[in-house]
Amino acid sequence: MARFRSQRDFNAFALQASMPKDFLAGVLPEYDVVVIGSGLAGMTAANILGRAGHRVLLLEQHYKLGGLATWFKRPGSHTFDISLHGFPYGMIKSCRRYWNEEIASNIVQLKNIRFDNPMFSLTTTFNREDFTRLLVERFGIEERAVTSFFDTARGMNFYDDQRMTTRELFEKFFPGREDVVRLLMEPITYANGSTLEDPAITYGIVFSNFMAKGVFIYEGGTDDLVTKMQAEMTKNGVDARIRCDVSKILVGPEGVRGVVVNGREIKCRAVVSNSNLRSTIFDMVGEDKFDPQFVQEAKAVRLNNSSTQVYMALKPGCTVDESTGDLLFCSTANLFRTELLLDRNITSRTFSFYYPRTRPHAKERYAIVSSTNANWSDWANLSDEEYEASKADLIESTLNSLEKYVPGCRDMIEHVEAATPRTFHHYTKHQLGASFGTKFEGLAVSRGLPQQIKGLYHAGSVGIIMSGWLGAINYGVIVSNEVDQMLIKSSLTISPSH
Ligand SMILES: Cc1cc2nc3c(=O)[nH]c(=O)nc-3n(C[C@H](O)[C@H](O)[C@H](O)COP(=O)(O)OP(=O)(O)OC[C@H]3O[C@@H](n4cnc5c(N)ncnc54)[C@H](O)[C@@H]3O)c2cc1C
Repeated sequence: MARFRSQRDFNAFALQASMPKDFLAGVLPEYDVVVIGSGLAGMTAANILGRAGHRVLLLEQHYKLGGLATWFKRPGSHTFDISLHGFPYGMIKSCRRYWNEEIASNIVQLKNIRFDNPMFSLTTTFNREDFTRLLVERFGIEERAVTSFFDTARGMNFYDDQRMTTRELFEKFFPGREDVVRLLMEPITYANGSTLEDPAITYGIVFSNFMAKGVFIYEGGTDDLVTKMQAEMTKNGVDARIRCDVSKILVGPEGVRGVVVNGREIKCRAVVSNSNLRSTIFDMVGEDKFDPQFVQEAKAVRLNNSSTQVYMALKPGCTVDESTGDLLFCSTANLFRTELLLDRNITSRTFSFYYPRTRPHAKERYAIVSSTNANWSDWANLSDEEYEASKADLIESTLNSLEKYVPGCRDMIEHVEAATPRTFHHYTKHQLGASFGTKFEGLAVSRGLPQQIKGLYHAGSVGIIMSGWLGAINYGVIVSNEVDQMLIKSSLTISPSH
């Protein structure tokens, strides 16, 4: 208990304790760059710009950093990861170059990826070699067609013809083979919500990234990753603040001039918004600041879908055999239909199994997280009672489904709870609770911001290609390089003698 020398000391202490904390205490009046949002793209951009010697302020409205790369703890030493289910091998290189070796060295492969649906049940390492084997031996496809498909997918890039859809791509290589389409597409639809009608390049790029070497995660858990990223940012001079909600991006005749955060104005020469693309344009800047044509394009950007999740923790001493798999794509739907994956009447789930090796230094705990793509509209307008009942139903149906893979799971589970599109919206402010940013057209709008307003940038999940952990980090890298160039150029203009 605190001891006070006088009544005056006590009064001062009591006054301070009753005042709301100033999360902006000690910030400078001006920075080179303000980054709005601490998702993986925001933090990566902040880290690179800080490392390059710019004065960087990172503002996060939530009470912790990480955005959707997040976790939560529950009594009994249980920690749940929200979006640590799998990313491609490319993360190692990106983390080594733009974060540090320690982070990169904690990235490990998941070797047991399972599929279980009425069309097939199989286990794979989810890389090109194993998929080729499966497609040839199990699905009876000619090796030439498989090789040609993989080469075509790997050769796709952003500058290609974007008219071909993923459906047309599959039809070209595997006509009439719904089972093959399911094997190739179902995990990608789970991973980023893309459909058969999206441009084939979005599929080709994401799928090939995974096929390069398989599926990876961060050993140590999201909490460890974000803690290490925070330390690296501090080392590089980034001023990172939580509970700092940016309401406005200020724009003058010369371009960006600052932000309004928690009611206070802070000047800057550039803004990188990691917030939702539509919120950035329409809420924080205002459409009157953009060309009418650009506003039309921005209005036409479709948000990606949201998700539901059920988090389950096993009682101490209860175990799951590792042969159950690391990732299990299960479905009871007879056919693969992307819209079925979003349906409130859930037939398809991805189970992630977190064995004690996920957090080698923590107490030995097992957790299972079930993830399903979901529509905002199915959850947004429920009354409180309906919402609670819907969550309870989601938990019940998930436990029923898990029973097939972990018999007796109900008796083994110590804690269970659910998240819905409303949860994701609540914590990240993403419109419609979007888990993966926007559809493809969002990328061009995001890239177009600096041409509209000098010093205004967006880095965060957009366009399917730039979403997910790797996509978001890589987008943060691309944008930070552009901001760096712009800052250097404008310094030279202001002060040609330097
Ligand atoms: C359920 C689920 C599972 C997923 N699983 C995987 C997976 O297995 N593998 C994978 O690669 N990806 C996965 N993802 C996707 C991945 O998590 C995201 O694509 C990625 O983390 C997004 O990073 P981001 O940089 O776009 O920003 P976000 O994580 O979206 O963060 C944006 C940040 O901006 C902040 N913000 C917003 N507005 C303001 C404001 N006005 N002021 C201040 N701060 C603001 C938010 O609070 C948030 O912290 C999953 C996503 C979900 C929802």
